Amino acid sequence: MRLIKNNLNIIKNALGDDVIVVAVSKTKPTDEIMKIYDQGHIDFGENKVQELLIKEKELPKNINWHMIGHLQRNKVRSIIPFVYLIHSVDSLRLINKINEEGKKINKKIKVLLQVKISDAVSKYGFNLSEIEKILNSEVLDNHKYVKVVGLMGMATFSNNETIIEKEFNALQKIYDKYKNTHKFKTLSMGMSGDYKIAIKNGSNMVRLGSVIFGSRG
Ligand SMILES: *Cc1c(COP(=O)(O)O)cnc(C)c1O
Repeated sequence: MRLIKNNLNIIKNALGDDVIVVAVSKTKPTDEIMKIYDQGHIDFGENKVQELLIKEKELPKNINWHMIGHLQRNKVRSIIPFVYLIHSVDSLRLINKINEEGKKINKKIKVLLQVKISDAVSKYGFNLSEIEKILNSEVLDNHKYVKVVGLMGMATFSNNETIIEKEFNALQKIYDKYKNTHKFKTLSMGMSGDYKIAIKNGSNMVRLGSVIFGSRG
C-alpha cells in the first residue's frame, strides 16, 4: 500500500488549489491523521459525533473539523463550539437547533444544505423541489447564527458514470442558480469513487476517505 501522505499529495497536486480536499478520517486512528496533519493538511471529516468529539479532544486545535454525517439535533450543542463546517444539514428543524445553540455561544455556524440527488444512497437531505423552495424563501434570513455557505450532495454508488454525472449536474445547476444571491462558496460533492466526475460538474470540495487512508475494511 502506498503511504497515506503520498496518496494525498498526488490527489492534491492533480486537483490544484481551487478544490479543497476534506480527508475523511472516520474509523481511522489519530496517528494516521497526524501523518498528514504533520505535512500541513488541516481539513478532516468525520461522520459520527461520538468519534468526532474524541478526536477533537486529542488532536491539534487548528484542525478544521468537517461534520459530514447525519446530525441529530440533540448532538448539535456538543460540536458547535469547535466545528468548522457542517455538511449534512438536512431539515429546517436542524437549522433551527443550530441557530439556537449558536446564539447561546454567540458563534455563527457555517453549514451546507444537504440535497438528496440520489434515491439510493441516503435517506437524508432536502429533495430538489424542497431546496429551491427554501432558497427562494426568507427562512434562512431568520437564522442569524447559521451561515449557509453552499450545498452538499452524494451520488449513487454505481459504476454507471452517466447516472453519477446526471445527479451531480442537477446539484450544480441549483448551486449556480443561487450562488450569487446567497453568496455561496462551497459545493461539496465527490467521494473516493466519483470525485473526478464531481469536479467536472463544478465541485470545489471533495470528501475523500479510502483513496487517502486505504479501505476501511
Ligand atoms: C465516508 C464518507 C465519505 C468518504 O468515503 P470514501 O468513499 O472512503 O471516500 C464521504 N462523504 C461522506 C458523507 C461519508 O460518509
